[in-house]
Amino acid sequence: MTPPTYPNHIDGESRPAIGGGWLDSTDPSTGRVWARVPDSGPDDIAEAVDAARRAAPGWAAVPPARRAAVLRRWAQTVTEHADDLARTESRDNGRVLRETRGADLPGGAMHIAYNAGLADTVTGDTLHLGGTASVSTLLEPYGVVGVILPWNAPLAMFFAKVSGALAAGNAVVVKPAEQACCSVLAGCALLEEAGLPPGAVNVVAGTGERAGEALVAHPGVAKVHVTGSTATGRRVTELSAAGITDLSLELGGKSACIVFDDADLDAAAAGAAGAVYTGGAGQSCVAASRFVVQDTVFEAFTERVRAHARALRVGAPGAPDTDMGPIASEEQYRKVLSYLELGPKEGAELLFGGGSGPDALTGPDPALDGGYWVEPTLFRADDGGLRLCQEEIFGPVAVALPFATEEEAYAIANGTGYGLAGGAWTRDLARARRAVSAIDAGTVWINTFRRIHWAVPFGGRKQSGNLPSNGPDALREWLTLKAAWIEPA
Ligand code: NAD
Repeated sequence: MTPPTYPNHIDGESRPAIGGGWLDSTDPSTGRVWARVPDSGPDDIAEAVDAARRAAPGWAAVPPARRAAVLRRWAQTVTEHADDLARTESRDNGRVLRETRGADLPGGAMHIAYNAGLADTVTGDTLHLGGTASVSTLLEPYGVVGVILPWNAPLAMFFAKVSGALAAGNAVVVKPAEQACCSVLAGCALLEEAGLPPGAVNVVAGTGERAGEALVAHPGVAKVHVTGSTATGRRVTELSAAGITDLSLELGGKSACIVFDDADLDAAAAGAAGAVYTGGAGQSCVAASRFVVQDTVFEAFTERVRAHARALRVGAPGAPDTDMGPIASEEQYRKVLSYLELGPKEGAELLFGGGSGPDALTGPDPALDGGYWVEPTLFRADDGGLRLCQEEIFGPVAVALPFATEEEAYAIANGTGYGLAGGAWTRDLARARRAVSAIDAGTVWINTFRRIHWAVPFGGRKQSGNLPSNGPDALREWLTLKAAWIEPA
């Protein structure tokens, strides 16, 4: 059977790539091609930017409350089509349906509605300088903005970023990840159905090197938001230099989950295991990929985590009882396997897991033999400088590091180039407050982990990014400031 195709969405129309090329999209639970997406390049990006430039002034002139009404209709249509969209995404990137259908789709619709509510809250300042001039500041939309998406939660990211950009009055060109963009392309028809003018949102699929770089380099794009790896963030930063293009970066992480000896160990183990083995088989920017554990409870904690990991069902993402699906692409699978090999070579001790391929499945299923399966895995390392402890693996692989003193725990937690998130488990309130101050990251959780909400600012420090998204100031990244001096005539 010929796989279905998911064309680009430009100026309100479905279009193949101008060059006619298609990229294979693989079902990661079988390893087989299940769909094709356009292999777009600079010409497709140029068409999309032109369409966005035509749409931008009209959309910016729509009163904010009316923009909000359109966004709320979009949220409603997303809710009505949530089941189909979630199934497409789970098929495409292997994230379990319970998460896409249960969390990403309803959360995405709520995120659109939240950003809609921000549309008419944009304000400026009046500055009193004396004299006759009236001086004020205005926040204005950029015009055309670019949004580059990752493959781990494409729809959730699409809804969050695009609704923010639109609420602020911009037109958008989106470049989703080539590995998993069918759900985003499938959902495009809902945009104009909700009342958005053609060209206000354009989605162009293709590789990062061709389509992504063309978007960042396009002189008609005033701002680009990138959610992706730190390596991509670096490359995009270089490219943006030519046009001094404004950038927002949401990048990788290596989040530390500190477990003190006074913690509720059962709750901590459940929370830590859930934060690295589920949520897309650990393919989450805020995965608890490092457990930093007080030496006196190290064994008691890691044994509990092992019990949780053993209880997880690894299998078909669409099955209702599956806890963990496959790795999203062959390339990422190879990367995760390389860390399973690297760990012991670097001197880390395998505490459990380490298996891959069909052996990692909870029960045999010949239909899934070609999938990209990895067992929930935990290593122990006594040296936080190992690559295993420093580099983002982006899979169901954690490393546990023992510590003796509180200061040592924070030093380990902060001892990477990342600063996206982190947390601690403790019953001591004073220590909890110290941990919030000491952990150098954009988000710190105490006695919980991997919680993100549209109403709470979220963003990275250090090499994890440069700006918070979400929360009451979410539109700020989509607006540019102007100072106005007005003298009486
Ligand atoms: P990636 O960096 O490989 O790709 C992300 C996007 O960037 C894709 O659309 C890709 O095509 C594009 N891209 C790649 N190279 C490019 C280039 N040279 N120019 C322009 N665009 C380019 O990331 P991924 O593998 O899709 O996603 C996983 C990464 O994303 C992880 O590092 C994860 O931590 C990060 N992530 C971060 C957040 C966050 O909120 N901080 C959220 C989700 C994922």
